Amino acid sequence: MDNDLEIRIGLFGFKGVGKSSMIMRFLMNEFVEEIEMGMGNRFRRKFDLDDESIYIYILDTTSDDSEFIFNNSIEYCDRIILVYSITDRLSFNQIKIIYQKITDYSKEEKKYPKILIGNKSDLFTKRQITCKEGKELARELNCKYIETSAKTGENINQIFYESLLLEFEELKKNQNQN
Ligand code: GDP
Repeated sequence: MDNDLEIRIGLFGFKGVGKSSMIMRFLMNEFVEEIEMGMGNRFRRKFDLDDESIYIYILDTTSDDSEFIFNNSIEYCDRIILVYSITDRLSFNQIKIIYQKITDYSKEEKKYPKILIGNKSDLFTKRQITCKEGKELARELNCKYIETSAKTGENINQIFYESLLLEFEELKKNQNQN
């Protein structure tokens, strides 16, 4: 138990983009219309990978977090995923600001977000951000671009597994070097 690996993943983005819903979908395979969650919620799920047990901790942040909480959240996470809603231009515009805050605060390159999510892909009739815009921003930030829907479940598992694998591979690499 003591040797179990722990991987901490944080979702960062403007409020209302669906971060809590994505976590619920991943952990419980459920979509709940209204979720009452406070700030800085942390969730845990156990995985078995290559004969090892891994605990994945997921941190839900909000754009209303104070600078202190925001920086603590960055500190806490091994991997950070950026999320905006394809139906909300403001949340898209916030991404660069959040990215900048993360890279200004953390000197650890591995904390720089590697995945940019456009959530609410099921609401394509209300789309404000095109796929092309999402991909262009992702390229600029050196991220992979993925569209998800917490409502239908599209690509939700994929984004958490990708972050998990990135961190797992790095942990293994470091273990082998030591
Ligand atoms: P957060 O503030 O980023 O944690 O956002 P929430 O998870 O609380 O979601 C905000 C609102 O968007 C809620 O009413 C959710 O039901 C809704 N929502 C979240 N994700 C999706 C999605 O993928 N599709 C649709 N249609 N609604 C979503």
